[in-house]
Amino acid sequence: MEFTLDEMREHLAALEARIDEACKIAGRSRESVKLVWVSKFHPAEAVENAIALGATDFGENRVQEAELKFSEPRTAKDGSRVRCHVIGPVQSNKLKKAALVADCIHSIASIEAVEKLEKVCAAAANGQGKVLDILFQVNAGEEETKSGLDVHEAEAFLEDLEKRAGAAADGKSENFPHLRFRGLMTIGKNTGVAEDSRECFAFLRGLRDKFLAKGGAFAAFDQLSMGMTGDLEVAIEEGSTMIRVGTALFGERDYSK
Ligand SMILES: *Cc1c(COP(=O)(O)O)cnc(C)c1O
Repeated sequence: MEFTLDEMREHLAALEARIDEACKIAGRSRESVKLVWVSKFHPAEAVENAIALGATDFGENRVQEAELKFSEPRTAKDGSRVRCHVIGPVQSNKLKKAALVADCIHSIASIEAVEKLEKVCAAAANGQGKVLDILFQVNAGEEETKSGLDVHEAEAFLEDLEKRAGAAADGKSENFPHLRFRGLMTIGKNTGVAEDSRECFAFLRGLRDKFLAKGGAFAAFDQLSMGMTGDLEVAIEEGSTMIRVGTALFGERDYSK
């Protein structure tokens, strides 16, 4: 059963209290943490309710589901355009569709994907081009089942990317003019104990800081997408700028659908 609008409002209030408390402990402002509503496996009506409650950013795992819900432009309560984040791994043959529907892809983990996205974005909007925000997923929890860059190879990957980007300034590069490298994403350790994820969140922040400090192609590399329903407080304490929350807002997912 999906939540009613009133139920969702209550869940949102409880979640906002958690976020506020974590921000207070971390000495951060609420505005420094973006809430991405993870609507995967929930119907379009749930998205409508979320928009009525002020949601501006949604996360979807699967490209086809993202297309179904977010191909048509929508307006948020604050008048901005609703943004779609693709947060799940994207197969090579789905990258084009992902690039067209998404405002931001969080799960990039190969040079091939970066090169393909540049081509697709250059040709988007009938050749007018589109600038896409991308984040690189790091398997900082070092779990076999999780996708993303190997934690020991992530730094070398980003250094290689910097070389391939060519001349760059202000986050724009010669060779990837339609992509903006915005930061890093990870999924914490799925142990049921939020504290277990602290180390991998802190690792991600260190890596982000190192590349942000380089400027050039990494001048806009200020984002850290980390923290979900179970571990968002620890993620905020470790510097998350985007928490991806599904269950705490929409309830349990029905995977049989
Ligand atoms: C499903 C999913 C989430 C949301 O997880 P919850 O525990 O329901 O908050 C966040 N990030 C990714 C990558 C996901 O696949």
